[in-house]
Amino acid sequence: MTTCIFCKIAAGDIPAEIVYEDDQVLAFRDLNPQAPLHALVIPRKHIATLNDLTAEDEALVGRMYLAARQVAGEAGLATRGYRTVMNCNSEAGQSVYHIHLHVLGGRSMQWPPG
Ligand code: 5GP
Repeated sequence: MTTCIFCKIAAGDIPAEIVYEDDQVLAFRDLNPQAPLHALVIPRKHIATLNDLTAEDEALVGRMYLAARQVAGEAGLATRGYRTVMNCNSEAGQSVYHIHLHVLGGRSMQWPPG
C-alpha cells in the first residue's frame, strides 16, 4: 500500500477538494492556501521529484500545465494573472515527494519569491 499522500488523494482514499481531473492528472485545493486560489496539479502517476521525470513524461507535464490553465481560467484569473511553481527537493521547499504544480492567484505577488 502506498504511503504517498498525493497518491492517496488521487485514489480517493484521502478527501480533497478536487477542482479538475482527467485520466492522467488532477487538481485540488491546497490544505494550507497561500493565496485566494491555491490549487495543486498532480499526475496520477507517482513521480517523486522533477529530477525523476523522463522523456516519456513529456506529454504528462504538458497536461499538468493545461490543467493549471483551466483551473486558473475558471477562477477568473486568465487576464489578471497567476503563478505556477514546482518546488524540487528540500532547499526549494518541497515537502511532498510526488510532483505537484502549485497554481496561485487572486492577490498581488512579489518577485523573487522567498
Ligand atoms: P511543497 O512544499 O511540497 O511544494 O507543497 C506541498 C503542498 O501540499 C503544501 O502547500 C501543503 O499545504 C500541501 N498539502 C500537504 N498535505 C496536503 C493534504 O493532505 N491535502 C492537501 N489538499 N494539501 C496538502
